[in-house]
Amino acid sequence: MQLRLLRRSLILRLVGLSLLLLLIVQAAGFAVVRATIDRNARAQIAQALDLDENVWRRLLEQNADKLRQGSALLAADYGFRSAVNSGDEETIQSVLENHGSRIGAAVTALLGTDLELRAVSLAGNMEAFPATLRALVPPLAAQPQGSQIAVMGGVPYQFVMVPLRAPVVIGWVLMGFPVNQPLADEMRQLLSVHVALVVQGADGTAKVPVSTLPPGPLALLQRQGVPSGELQTPEGTLLARAIRLDSVVGGEVQALLLRSVDEVLAPYRQLQVLLAIITVAGVLLFAVGTGLVAQRLTTPLRSLLAATQRLSRGEYDVPLEHTDRSDEIGNLARSFDHMRVDIGVQQTEIRRLAYWDRLTGLPNRERFREAVVLAIAHSTGGEPPQHPLAVLTLDLDRFKHVNDVLGYAFGDRLLQAVAERLRQQVPSPDNMVARLGGNEFAVLLQGADAATAHATALRITHSFEEPLAFEDQTVDLSAGIGIACWPGDADDADTLLSRSEIAMYAAKRRLSGALQYDASFDSASTQTLSLLTELRHAVEHHELRLYLQPKVPLHGQPGRAAEALVRWQHPQRGLVPPMQFIPFAEQTGFVRQLTLWMFEEVARLLADPRTQGLALRVSVNLSTRDLLDPELSTRLADILVRHGVLASAFCLEITESAIMDDPQRAEAMLNRLSEQGFKLSIDDFGTGYSSLAYLKRLPVDELKIDKSFVMGMETGEDDAMIVRSTIDLAHNLGLTVVAEGVETAAILERLRTLACDEAQGYHIARPLPVDDFLAWQARQG
Ligand code: C2E
Ligand code: CA
Ligand code: CA
Repeated sequence: MQLRLLRRSLILRLVGLSLLLLLIVQAAGFAVVRATIDRNARAQIAQALDLDENVWRRLLEQNADKLRQGSALLAADYGFRSAVNSGDEETIQSVLENHGSRIGAAVTALLGTDLELRAVSLAGNMEAFPATLRALVPPLAAQPQGSQIAVMGGVPYQFVMVPLRAPVVIGWVLMGFPVNQPLADEMRQLLSVHVALVVQGADGTAKVPVSTLPPGPLALLQRQGVPSGELQTPEGTLLARAIRLDSVVGGEVQALLLRSVDEVLAPYRQLQVLLAIITVAGVLLFAVGTGLVAQRLTTPLRSLLAATQRLSRGEYDVPLEHTDRSDEIGNLARSFDHMRVDIGVQQTEIRRLAYWDRLTGLPNRERFREAVVLAIAHSTGGEPPQHPLAVLTLDLDRFKHVNDVLGYAFGDRLLQAVAERLRQQVPSPDNMVARLGGNEFAVLLQGADAATAHATALRITHSFEEPLAFEDQTVDLSAGIGIACWPGDADDADTLLSRSEIAMYAAKRRLSGALQYDASFDSASTQTLSLLTELRHAVEHHELRLYLQPKVPLHGQPGRAAEALVRWQHPQRGLVPPMQFIPFAEQTGFVRQLTLWMFEEVARLLADPRTQGLALRVSVNLSTRDLLDPELSTRLADILVRHGVLASAFCLEITESAIMDDPQRAEAMLNRLSEQGFKLSIDDFGTGYSSLAYLKRLPVDELKIDKSFVMGMETGEDDAMIVRSTIDLAHNLGLTVVAEGVETAAILERLRTLACDEAQGYHIARPLPVDDFLAWQARQG
């Protein structure tokens, strides 16, 4: 449709415009030629008419000469002269009549010397003659060589007069001849000009007694009278020249000379017709020619257009036509074809990038999702029983810290190694291992039920048990694995994927290897929302409680110490332990408010008169979110000022992982806090990847050995060794060491011998409400 439109419009426009221009030029030329021919023709006719006029006048004069000779003959007749002399009326009359009829005169008359009529011979009816005579004679007598025209009975006559001498003038011979058809015919024959005599009577009527015109124009002439310039007849235009005949008596006579314009134009008309035919033929040829050229242009254009449409549909493999032409179209087609090939190559590359993970060579999330969609479509389309399928999602634990501490190159190699292990565990070509992004992987198991999925998950977990070793670094691998099965857990691919991920997060939360999706995981996320509202409510309605767990010195150092731990006195749920809401508060960022609340409570306690004299130092826990808050130090300073307490009465506990989330910003904040006078402590030491060498750079004062090592000291020699070497290393770096999770006297003793500085744990005291804590301190004395 579009193609045809393009073609039609282009060709039409090309041809149409060219034709229009051609026609305009031709028409203009035609008009000019026509006008010129017309003008020339008229000029030519006018010239011819000039000549005609001269000839006509000559003819009239010749006529007059002839008449005069006839008259002179009569005047010279001896018998006639003697008859006049003798007054022989009878003879005179008969001579006049004879002579007149012999030379064809209409009037033959004898005038006396007094110019009075003495005798006359009239041919036909001429009652008007005597009256006419009187007007006629004087001018003739005045000019004997001339002639006179007079109209009688509507017919023009030419009169001449010669003297009768014997030898003196004894009278005048007057003769008149009708100016009639033969004269006109002679003119017509001589010059092929039409002649008409128009007689204007005294009453204004026009008569045409003599004419060579055909009946049509003649009738027109009789109706219209003498035309000015030209006579338009149905047969064509006649150019007219009117010649007034001199010396007229008895009416006005004009001789009309008429020439047909069309006769002159006729040969030119033929030329013009020929020209018109040539023009039409030219236009047709031109139309065909431009049409062909346009066709030659639009055909390749059309194929280019079709090619662009193919490209936009993503078909890159059909080569372009017209690339072999040597003109501009050929150039265009060739460069277009290059473009097609280039785009095709790029497209393949983009597709590869779009569907494959470069680092591991595994399919990416898009590709994986498509595979799941396809697998479900296949299974649904097939005959029942349907093949079930399962999606496993894995998220590596602590990957971010590996990246931060051991570097991105190490992180990349770790991901590649994980990809390789997964590939080994999932061999079938129907199945697929993909990297969904970051440290998240997924496995598609075709035809697998829940049992098979769990078995695979277990195999993967086992394969992770062997630590990864590159160069001299060794890293433990572990991952949360979520399982979702189709059609049991979800109906479509997207839900299946997201439920597998939900299961994975649940698995990570619970630190259990692999979990299959359960509807309760989903509701957990709706629970979190209401939990956030509840937490806000808790702060505003004073449901949070400050608990303090004493830290005791093992070598008699002065002062008392404690760790501040939050508790939630929930109106329905009772006392909620922090592990049930701190991780959530950290996720949502609410922990910042919680930290400030905690800090304020501790500041209030330190300002409390009951704690004066105890030289109490309280440890407050900070989270990642706190460290990354650039306002933290000023906020804390405000609280200090408000309660009038010193920063040195605080110790701020930060876990390794909190520092490692963004080491640079953490380091900057720790420096500021240290400058403000806060003591800083590394909490849960030993659970992360940070090296002591790194920690040395930080302005830290204290190291808290994680309770998992401390509690394991009794049973495992490994843990005891870790605790001992940690204490030694920390001391070498000038840090004090606190052991938390001291649950037995034996461990306490062991720690004391290992030169640990402080201890904290259930064996000494559980976290206590403020009043109980103060009472406990009082008991210690
Ligand atoms: P943490 O900072 O490592 O705190 C020490 C945890 O060990 C406390 O648990 C404490 O009750 C527990 N503990 C102390 N002695 C023993 C012992 O002998 N045996 C055993 N098994 N456990 C012992 P708690 O109070 O349940 O707090 C858990 C975690 O919640 C804390 O771990 C800390 O990370 C977080 N937390 C508590 N309060 C706050 C707070 O105000 N702010 C922040 N950011 N985190 C807090
Ligand atoms: Ca702590
Ligand atoms: Ca701890």
